[in-house]
Amino acid sequence: MKVLKFGGTSVGSLEALKNVKSIVEKEFNQNVPLVVVCSAFSGITNSLLLAAEEALIQNDFSEILKVAEDKHYQVISGLLPRTMQNPLLMLVKVSFNEIEDILFSVKNLGELSGRIKDRLLAYGEQMSSKIIATYLQSENFPANHKDARELIVTDSNFGNASVDFSKTNENLKNWNPENQIYVVTGFISKDKNQDTTTLGRGGSDYTAAILGSGLKADEIQIWTDVDGFMTADPRLVKNAFSQPELSYQEAMEMSYFGAKVIYPPTMIPAIESQIPIYIKNTFNPENPGTLIHQKSEISKGLIKGIVSIEKTCLVNITGNGMIGMKGFSGRLFNALAKYDVNVILITQASSEHSISFVVNFNDEKKAEKAIQEEFEFEINANKIDEPQFDNELSILSVVGENMKKTRGISGKFFSALGKNGINIIAIAQGSSELNISAVIERNELSKALNVVHDSLLLSPVKTFNVMFAGTGNIGKELFKQLKREEENLEKNHQIKINVIGVTNSRQMIISENESLNFDLNKILDKNLEKSDLENFINSISSKNLPNLVFIDNTSSEDVVSHYPQFFENNISIVTCNKKGNSSGYEQYSKFKRLAKKNNVSFLYETNVGAGLPIIKTLNDLWISGDEILKIEAILSGTISYIFNNYVGEKTFAEVVRTAQELGYTEPDPRDDLNGMDFSRKMLILGREIGLPLEMSDVNIKDFLPEACLKADSIPSFYEELEKNEPYFSSFKNEAESSGKKLRLIGILEDGKINIEVKMVDANHAFYGLSGSDNIISFTTSRYKNTPLVVKGPGAGAEVTAAGVFADLVRVTAQ
Ligand code: ADP
Ligand code: ASP
Ligand code: MG
Repeated sequence: MKVLKFGGTSVGSLEALKNVKSIVEKEFNQNVPLVVVCSAFSGITNSLLLAAEEALIQNDFSEILKVAEDKHYQVISGLLPRTMQNPLLMLVKVSFNEIEDILFSVKNLGELSGRIKDRLLAYGEQMSSKIIATYLQSENFPANHKDARELIVTDSNFGNASVDFSKTNENLKNWNPENQIYVVTGFISKDKNQDTTTLGRGGSDYTAAILGSGLKADEIQIWTDVDGFMTADPRLVKNAFSQPELSYQEAMEMSYFGAKVIYPPTMIPAIESQIPIYIKNTFNPENPGTLIHQKSEISKGLIKGIVSIEKTCLVNITGNGMIGMKGFSGRLFNALAKYDVNVILITQASSEHSISFVVNFNDEKKAEKAIQEEFEFEINANKIDEPQFDNELSILSVVGENMKKTRGISGKFFSALGKNGINIIAIAQGSSELNISAVIERNELSKALNVVHDSLLLSPVKTFNVMFAGTGNIGKELFKQLKREEENLEKNHQIKINVIGVTNSRQMIISENESLNFDLNKILDKNLEKSDLENFINSISSKNLPNLVFIDNTSSEDVVSHYPQFFENNISIVTCNKKGNSSGYEQYSKFKRLAKKNNVSFLYETNVGAGLPIIKTLNDLWISGDEILKIEAILSGTISYIFNNYVGEKTFAEVVRTAQELGYTEPDPRDDLNGMDFSRKMLILGREIGLPLEMSDVNIKDFLPEACLKADSIPSFYEELEKNEPYFSSFKNEAESSGKKLRLIGILEDGKINIEVKMVDANHAFYGLSGSDNIISFTTSRYKNTPLVVKGPGAGAEVTAAGVFADLVRVTAQ
């Protein structure tokens, strides 16, 4: 015997019901008697409840009932041959007439008891199960209908009745559904007065387990609309995936802490009778789904899921009088129990000066009443402060049986939350160590679920939500590279980049839900919103997305001025914009401080030498305790090119002109030759080794005569260069005659930065430099005789974008 339960969505449409038929057929063909438990059609229980609530406050409920009634007619007429429709159409008509009568009396009396509510809700399952039984008959199955109220006996706790197992099992023993299919109502039962009761919302799962256990079934199958028990609610966590196997305890813990896919008590009868439960997808029956059974050796994986209860209320009781007050907790929890308040989680500081616990959102008023009543005296005598209630909170729990043997899970859990700026209000670990829970603010729940899910390595792929500023050469190139590498990143490095926003100085776009594509031209093709960085940051932050990164591919001071806002919103920054780190020292150190304080990354390798590993190398030397004695560098492609080529017969002006024609220089070559850009880079290097330097500390020994620098146009600049050729060539000749080469070098030594023209001999690392390469040499205690040299192309969109890309990947690894 097998018990198959079909939930609301599995019986909510014609397509779904046809799937149900195929599933039943497949099982029945194996010659096993089947008990098929059905929920009400999807949405019907909610509609009946809503109609009752409307009636109670004297509102009109007819429209709600009409929609619900029509849904039944549609299923009947769409599914059954005409000849079999009539009795069912009658059943639905009569049922809705009765429902309407009940609701009118609710409206008239202004009263809705639990007893009436249960009677009302029962119609949903009564109708659905009859329709399904008839449908199976029409398809030539030996199907019968059975009302579970003839079988399941409970107490009279309407809305959430407790099962009397001895009576129920007695009834089941006398029922013999051999060689047949029985379609049974889920959710509903009867008390000893023959009044209808219900087993709690979602209770059809429980019905299946009660029947399965009492009938000694071989297995229980819960058919729903997802591929099994997943690592998190798939509606909230995109990367959730289904677990092949869970222990009863894990499934119970996860469902208790919010995984709606199965009703928590369902596991109890199954454990009792050791019956396996399968969770399967009606819309994808081939998927193996999840097997829930006694913990087996093969049960792998540390963490089985991340679950949450969205609406909870934290109650905080404090007071000096609580210290050492005997029996305080006992009184408190008895009082809560008396008012039927379910306590979800408790934490108590060891000082005993406060106790906090979490209850269901709906139980706040009852909890308040219970506490006020029990501790009236203590509160009046100021031994206990007025209890505090915070009902804007959620609980997030990590569940897994194997966690108890493993250290460091809570550390990882809490640091994932902390890194993303999620405030933890209370924490608790069950003594079974089956779960660790954190109470957090409700508006951060979705973000929290996703970051915890990703960081506890449940997802094969980690998603980063990235926003971009700057759509010039570097921005465009970066998008090209990201697009090219998208598959490789996901497949081989388990990283997924979501483009969630793009802005330039004119316009901006923020994605609604999905990632924007990597085709920058397509993104910018449309008529977009006018750019407004303030708005850009606020809109993205309000989405509460996890793992946010901002990439600055501009050279804008304005963008830099917003960096603090990014950091404060827990957004990491990757930037090739030098303006941020080369303005005032105070700003530089502030950015570092803010990044650290907010636990995010701030990476800017491309500030110096584009994609060359300069800052990283320097950081590694510095952090590992090496002493930096001297840094020598040529950090300008233009300057490198000009000096490497100013040899032989060519005049200095000719070389500069060629550099400009080749596109090496800025549009105005003076911007390269005045050494400003070079100075910024040297300044950043100095700061990286802890020197609080300002721009005024950089000493540029002007190589260009004053008249050249002061020329008022580009043509007159060239004229001045030509006029001064004797001056330039005097250097060149001196160098050449002594077998040396001219190089404009930045030198950082003894805490000072000089940028000056040097003549280097063949032993010097910079002697053989060619083309427009950058070069940097670190002389340190460890690299003293032979300095550590990094050399290569240090400018250009391609290598800069590649450097930004590498920094982005580094963020994902941190
Ligand atoms: P049914 O109507 O079949 O009883 P429910 O709506 O009660 O279905 O439960 C299935 C739903 O539970 C899924 O559609 C999913 O949105 C939700 N859910 C929440 N947490 C989980 C989880 N951890 N695994 C699977 N589904 C979950
Ligand atoms: N129809 C009931 C409900 O919606 C029972 C169930 O679906 O399990 O709560
Ligand atoms: Mg359910």
